[in-house]
Amino acid sequence: MPFDPPADADARRAVPPVICYPDDNLPRPDLALYADFRGAAEKTDEVVVPPRDARCFEVPAGSFFRISAPEGAQVGDLNLWNATDLSERFYSGKTRALHGTHLTTGERMWSSFPHLRPMATITADTLDWYGIDAFGGSVHDVIGTRCDPYTGNLLSGSQYHHCCHSNLTRALADHRQLSLSEAEPHVHDVLNVFMCTGFTRDTGQYFMKASPVRPGDHLEIFAEIGLLGALSACPGGDCSSEHSSDSAACYPLRVEIFTPTAEALAGWHSPPSNGYDRTHGRGPVR
Ligand SMILES: [Zn+2]
Repeated sequence: MPFDPPADADARRAVPPVICYPDDNLPRPDLALYADFRGAAEKTDEVVVPPRDARCFEVPAGSFFRISAPEGAQVGDLNLWNATDLSERFYSGKTRALHGTHLTTGERMWSSFPHLRPMATITADTLDWYGIDAFGGSVHDVIGTRCDPYTGNLLSGSQYHHCCHSNLTRALADHRQLSLSEAEPHVHDVLNVFMCTGFTRDTGQYFMKASPVRPGDHLEIFAEIGLLGALSACPGGDCSSEHSSDSAACYPLRVEIFTPTAEALAGWHSPPSNGYDRTHGRGPVR
């Protein structure tokens, strides 16, 4: 039985919200500087991600990577790690707290504790016109996790092997010569590239709808540190109906790497790790 609302229920609901992390305090990326870097960059590598599978790619610090869906509407699940330390990885939850539920140009992908630094900055998004639609949906979310076989098993008893979680696990294992059990704990919550999602206003449930991405669209990202990336072409395809099965139409994704000249990058440095002293109230770290 629900409880009866108190006499001042409406007044309590009418209290206006306060933004948890006003972004005026965040260091702003210098997008004009990145545009100069991009102008001095040439394509140095390309990786094609097959449908319902994933591939890894390496991005040197100061380079860009561009994700596109050249053959049809397709959602991608993106993991990022520090290329020299897999324990530093993309922190979806803190990125959401800092920037909101969906990312676009000028926003950053932040790394896990104790580093909490920008590991990547979005520099171009051809879907930035989408905004927030009438359902509350938007593109490139950090609210979903990644489709995975455990949830499928929980909800329907299935044994499906091409969810993004498994695709990312196999890709990382193959790329770094790890066993599946060594690779799996490194897989983490993703940036859902090109995915259109939101929460229903009436029940607060996570929803998805057909991605607005079309061939010719892309998301371009600047690597603030040397990155190992893994991208899965989600078995949900454009995520208009279902995922975690082989029923949706799926297309490949392309990742292109663009590297500026050393002259253009002269004087630029990766951001340092977070300045908190890590003593947690117990005196100096020994
Ligand atoms: Zn997926």
